[in-house]
Amino acid sequence: MQENIIIAASEAQSHRHSIGRSTWQQQLSHAIRDPQTLCERLRLNRDWLAGAQVGHELFEVCVPEAYLKRIAYADINDPLLRQVIPLGEEALTPAGYVVDPLEEADHRPAKGLIHKYAGRVLLIASPNCAINCRYCFRRHFPYSDNSPSRAQWQEALDYLRNDTTIHEAILSGGDPLAASDRQLAWLVEQLESIPHLKRLRIHTRLPVVIPDRVDDALLGWLASTRLQKVVVLHINHANEIDQAVVDACTNLKQAGATLLNQSVLLRDVNDSTATLAALSERLFEAGILPYYLHVMDPVQGAAHFDVPDEEARALVAKLRDYLPGFLMPRLVREIPGKGSKTPL
Ligand SMILES: *Cc1c(COP(=O)(O)O)cnc(C)c1O
Ligand code: SF4
Repeated sequence: MQENIIIAASEAQSHRHSIGRSTWQQQLSHAIRDPQTLCERLRLNRDWLAGAQVGHELFEVCVPEAYLKRIAYADINDPLLRQVIPLGEEALTPAGYVVDPLEEADHRPAKGLIHKYAGRVLLIASPNCAINCRYCFRRHFPYSDNSPSRAQWQEALDYLRNDTTIHEAILSGGDPLAASDRQLAWLVEQLESIPHLKRLRIHTRLPVVIPDRVDDALLGWLASTRLQKVVVLHINHANEIDQAVVDACTNLKQAGATLLNQSVLLRDVNDSTATLAALSERLFEAGILPYYLHVMDPVQGAAHFDVPDEEARALVAKLRDYLPGFLMPRLVREIPGKGSKTPL
């Protein structure tokens, strides 16, 4: 084990050099996209490959190098690996686990726009992600269906212009930062021309998965908008925050963004008080405040990640004994039809 860590550290060094020369788009296009390669690169025991193939056929593997290098070798229980490795269990269909757990299909007044909560709307700026998290509700989404072109955004923009109660536009996805900076800069320009909009929020995992995504082009449009900026990252474990992520966060803050984090409570990833406490501490070191800790949406194929509500409540109650109040995430569930996230 010790030996593995040493090898991992020296290889991580050389990875860093090769990554430094490629753009985030190149890194994304070179992401690992099959279970076989994932197994070989991480020197995993081959006995899980058959099951992995089953999971992969349901939702394809996608792991960029920048994320891979934070995963330990030969450890099937690595908390980062657990999030991206397909398993045979994904084919199970237990009662209550469904394809569209959030019933979002009912709240789309315009293409690419979801309006469920007062004062804020979600805009699906990109249907794609830079990583495929196994517990994601997006695993059942039609990939190409919801990424409007400029002309198609007009309907959503008109909707925003006509509803003066909306003060915040939330770029979501997929991962909104999977869209090009040209497209995003254009969209933000349209948004800031709407006088009653005050805030731009971006829900993204990309600065964590490929920290080089936070490049000059992104920082340029982000820094120059009149809108107040909030970036809500998605980080589930302290090991996800390496120096490159810290640097990306520093740059986002310098561009004027407030940084928050949302996590999902996941079995065998972060379902212990010590792990959650370490995550909050590490987030704060990176300049990020914990925001939400979500219990998982009951999405088909992800039941093996589930942590029952009672256990979740007990974990968070115990977490209070370790952390200052400002490092406590709010434990919530998303219940279809409710006007906000529901505290547990
Ligand atoms: C989660 C969510 C939001 C944001 O909710 P906050 O509690 O403000 O973070 C907005 N719209 C939709 C549809 C959401 O699912
Ligand atoms: S980055 Fe977010 S939206 Fe994309 S697969 Fe992971 S959890 Fe789902």
